[in-house]
Amino acid sequence: MNVLTTADEVRAFRAGAGGAGGTLGLVPTMGALHAGHLSLVARARSENDRVAASIFVNPAQFGENEDLAAYPRTPENDLRHLESLGVDAVWTPSPGDVYPPGFQTFITVEEVSAPLEGARRPGHFRGVATVVAKLFNVFEPDRAYFGQKDAQQVAVIRRMVADLSFPVDVVVCPIVREADGLALSSRNAYLSPEERRAAPVLRRALLAARAAFESGERDAGRLRAVLNETLAGEPLARPDYVSVADAVTLLELERVAGPALVSLAVRFGGTRLIDNVVLGGT
Ligand code: AMP
Repeated sequence: MNVLTTADEVRAFRAGAGGAGGTLGLVPTMGALHAGHLSLVARARSENDRVAASIFVNPAQFGENEDLAAYPRTPENDLRHLESLGVDAVWTPSPGDVYPPGFQTFITVEEVSAPLEGARRPGHFRGVATVVAKLFNVFEPDRAYFGQKDAQQVAVIRRMVADLSFPVDVVVCPIVREADGLALSSRNAYLSPEERRAAPVLRRALLAARAAFESGERDAGRLRAVLNETLAGEPLARPDYVSVADAVTLLELERVAGPALVSLAVRFGGTRLIDNVVLGGT
């Protein structure tokens, strides 16, 4: 496995060793890899001639009061996992490799970035879109793999790819969960044992909303109420938002008629977790 540092090294990898003919799949990550990330890598491995990953804790997508410095970093473990899954190259740039001196070009995906996570994390999706555009330009992947776990990120990247005509297929992979339903996340490591026991309430709330939908409920306000009622049963959970939105535009719905993204963000102490489910098709 090639471990690359500079953008020029990535370009040389892209051009080299059979690079011209075969397909390249790219898996962007911030490291601290878990089985959720690895499911993306395995999917990319099964669909492409060559697979690349990136590990970059992107300062541009963290707010001033967020956990950039504390974000978990496990580089040796990450490289071992990627190598064992047959990854051909991994880019582990420093911030200066991604944002060279004088950097001043950013991508804003305006409307899809505005609600939900974007409203609570100003600048987050500007940082995400900019770094993903950079990754696409440097790697020139045929396919790029993202997790449904970060549903708004997927919507933002899909919009950017369509708007700016990036020649890349965006492949979205299902959420990988613990046995008790908690979605795998690098931030789960921040939870105390009591908070960890309480955290599956996110999944229970989503399943309750899905059950109501499957019983015929189409009133989005009622579905939001089902989410809130479930969360209210868990004393350690402090809801940030619950949402029933159009799955493409992410605008809040009054009634569910087409595919709807049901999503929520909940705090447990200082840790903020997100999860979602799509109702009525994907
Ligand atoms: P991150 O390192 O948090 O930026 O995540 C890298 C990629 O892994 C993103 O596309 C995430 O959506 C995806 N991902 C994170 N957690 C999961 C999960 N539990 N299941 C599936 N994909 C995930």
